Amino acid sequence: MAGESAQRVSPTFGHALIRGIRLRCAMCGRGKMFRDWFRMEKACSCCGFRFGRAPGYFLGSTYINYALTAGLTTVTYVGLHFGLGIANRGLIPALLLFCLVFPLYFFRYARSLWLSLDCCIDVTGASEPFWEHAGSQNGNELKDSSGSRVDIAEPAATLPRSPEPGTNR
Ligand SMILES: [Zn+2]
Repeated sequence: MAGESAQRVSPTFGHALIRGIRLRCAMCGRGKMFRDWFRMEKACSCCGFRFGRAPGYFLGSTYINYALTAGLTTVTYVGLHFGLGIANRGLIPALLLFCLVFPLYFFRYARSLWLSLDCCIDVTGASEPFWEHAGSQNGNELKDSSGSRVDIAEPAATLPRSPEPGTNR
């Protein structure tokens, strides 16, 4: 049955980490998350998993990016200034440049890691309808994480319907 084959299973922590670092789909590990440096795909081209799980979902990835940037900057400064005695005059401009460039470089990885680690912890909502987002890329054929074909011809019947405007509750 299509609904059962579309159920999502949380990736293990190791799989989530590897998929995050490789910028691949958190669910199947095959589909690419990014079209180019800054533009994300809306859904996985292999399994149809929708990457943006909620509005503003990737705001959380900025915590990863910030933490790594601040951590690397602090460790580098302490090591070079107090450990090797390098003067602030040369060190501060270099670290400021690092603080500007590194988050741009790490942007995609922060998003990818955020998504894959979140899916590792909780896949709630990951089985929501994805055919409308990915169906146009693969026609009517999608495959789930186990490689089984998922029939997307009958999604509307399984969706909960919101009440019509103006009807009584
Ligand atoms: Zn996928």
